[in-house]
Amino acid sequence: MVGRADRVLPGVWRIRLPLPWPGVPHVNAWAIESADRDGIVLVDTGIHGDGAFEELERTLHLTGHSISDVKLLVCTHAHSDHYGLAAPIVEAAGCELWLHPDHAHMTRFASDPERALERRIEVAAQSGVPLEPLARWAEERRDQSPGIAAVVEPDRDLVEGVEVPTGLGPWGVYETPGHAPSHVVLFQPDRRLLISGDHLLGRVSLYFDYGWTPDPVAEFLAGLDTVEGLGARLCLPGHGRPFADVQAHVVANRREIADRSQATVDALGDDEATAFDLVPKVFGELGDTMMSWALTIMLCFLTHLERAGRVERVTSPDGKPERWRTAARAGARL
Ligand SMILES: [Zn+2]
Ligand SMILES: [Zn+2]
Repeated sequence: MVGRADRVLPGVWRIRLPLPWPGVPHVNAWAIESADRDGIVLVDTGIHGDGAFEELERTLHLTGHSISDVKLLVCTHAHSDHYGLAAPIVEAAGCELWLHPDHAHMTRFASDPERALERRIEVAAQSGVPLEPLARWAEERRDQSPGIAAVVEPDRDLVEGVEVPTGLGPWGVYETPGHAPSHVVLFQPDRRLLISGDHLLGRVSLYFDYGWTPDPVAEFLAGLDTVEGLGARLCLPGHGRPFADVQAHVVANRREIADRSQATVDALGDDEATAFDLVPKVFGELGDTMMSWALTIMLCFLTHLERAGRVERVTSPDGKPERWRTAARAGARL
């Protein structure tokens, strides 16, 4: 799979870059004519890997630009597919990087991948993942590239109130954590254009980073309220095609979260279960790769439901996996 570039509006190009992930074939970077019209603002980067930077260069050329035309690099969040090539881009273009300051979920992980992997294994064991598949998963992970070329710190913190200047006018920054603690969306009010990163995608596809903030699902829902209030006419998402019916997508995401939350409570029924036990009941049977993804989401749902008073965790003092039960069930036992 090779990169592609399409002009979606005068002065805005979709740069479609390949990804090595099952079910997610590419990621979008967005090139926007710069404020002084002598270059571009690049939003997001594509993932780092063999030949990835050359592929970005080649794809950017299709828009009539080169890496040296990048006057400013902005990342919607610090996941590898949106931030992975930040270091070589900044180096080659001599431009600034703007990114939200809560990027430790990636930068700390990338600075000490061994420790990060150990922590994930601890969380998985605590969630009831049996030893054998866990060992196999960890072994595969150990050989995997983290997908970022190098850690690069932002020159400017991309927080609420910051404006990104472009040839289409300024884009406002709105913090939308939940998918990742560092997530922001950009909104151009005159044209009502939204660059949504992974917060809002054409096809509902939930993911939340677990373990960095108290309740990523609640943060994600608050971010949907923020986006709804903007009244965007066209959304330029992090994956897939641009789409117009932004409000319908906000509603679909809320419904998906409500449905999965209810499915989690229903799956618990009158029993106690680990997060691992619940995954196939809520998401269906999955392979190892998808299992890790689904377990992360399940833990986020359980934490969200716990804070809403609908479920509670049952910790055992002997280090056995944590179990969960519905709050009604807990009440019935008293
Ligand atoms: Zn992401
Ligand atoms: Zn992404």
